[in-house]
Amino acid sequence: MNKTEIPHSNRAKYVSRIRDLIDDMISFGLTKSREDFAGVNFGFTVVDSAENPIPFASVIIDLDSLGRIKIGSTNQSGQITLAFTKQMIENNPGIFGEKNGKYYGVSFNMTASANGNITKKAFAVNLNSLDTLEAGKDLLYFSKSVSQKDRDLGVFILKKERNFIRNFLGAEPIPWGMALVDTTSAVYVSPDKVNYKNSLINVFPFSIKEDNLPNIFASNLHEWTEQTLDFYYSHSIPRWIADGLSEYIKIAFARSLTPNELKRIGIDKEWINTLFKKGKKKMQERITEHPSFDLLDWQYAGLKYKLTNPSQPYGYPTASSFWYYITKKCGDKIVREMLEYIKDYPENYNTKAVKYLKENCDSSVEAELKNYPTQKVIDYLNEVEKELLNKL
Ligand SMILES: [Zn+2]
Repeated sequence: MNKTEIPHSNRAKYVSRIRDLIDDMISFGLTKSREDFAGVNFGFTVVDSAENPIPFASVIIDLDSLGRIKIGSTNQSGQITLAFTKQMIENNPGIFGEKNGKYYGVSFNMTASANGNITKKAFAVNLNSLDTLEAGKDLLYFSKSVSQKDRDLGVFILKKERNFIRNFLGAEPIPWGMALVDTTSAVYVSPDKVNYKNSLINVFPFSIKEDNLPNIFASNLHEWTEQTLDFYYSHSIPRWIADGLSEYIKIAFARSLTPNELKRIGIDKEWINTLFKKGKKKMQERITEHPSFDLLDWQYAGLKYKLTNPSQPYGYPTASSFWYYITKKCGDKIVREMLEYIKDYPENYNTKAVKYLKENCDSSVEAELKNYPTQKVIDYLNEVEKELLNKL
């Protein structure tokens, strides 16, 4: 619930100036100062105008009056990893690629994972330093310190989660990598894609010292679902659907597991008590001042609606509660049917989804989305908590 995301980071961003890139990330609410990014590895890809990567291109840093420096070359995937000093960042150098006398642009993408506020220095992962295990179409990355038992568990989870997302959304999840990184810092992976067996795998990193495995697996399921929806429906899919379903699927997944599977993952009574107690307390503290939440107005964090916006975290449990009651009333199939129906209206996902749910499940759905009662979120948390506790 408190996961900090760079929403839809699978969209590459073009970079022409390094300090501008970092200032963008700061204004977005990702971290506090330019200094936090000094010495951090950034993965860049040199691309042509059709966004095809250019292997073995020179990468050039332009320091304006101080001249240009060839800083290195891209690898066979067109990528290069670079870190900058504080002074270098301040100078705001330009960056571009060159090959056979032609100049190319540079794109940057990354995925971050952190709990709560990012106050620590960013920790960037070099994927090559991690070990891997295959999990069907997907990959588990891990630091050497991860035990054999947890490695096996990671593979088991990736397989289970892929099946669950496929059944829940009615669509094949995108190729995925989960990285278990031995650090306490906010963890970044850049670039966040690797080529593996002819497919491009999105890799999402987690710090294993900052969070427990059941939380990490739940967050992984959220990110995987969200990026899968983003792949099929693009960034224009409203947040109450993409982020909402991705949040609810965590609960739906836990509800689908057998008592033995729950135990194997590490979900026990104590874990459930802690999680729900925290969630309910947050909603109780909010209810007098904010008896409802407008899910239709819940937006992805960006320059205007920052990650640090105080209302932002409440959308998660609220949207999760919404989907719990919708699927309780009309079955999980309503999710697949609605997603299938809106597919043909990329300009109009929001209106069409509301219309579909109104006509096929609940006539009061629009009013409910606009004014979702905080009390109903608490009721939902109580119901699910009881159900899960009864299983153990
Ligand atoms: Zn999300």
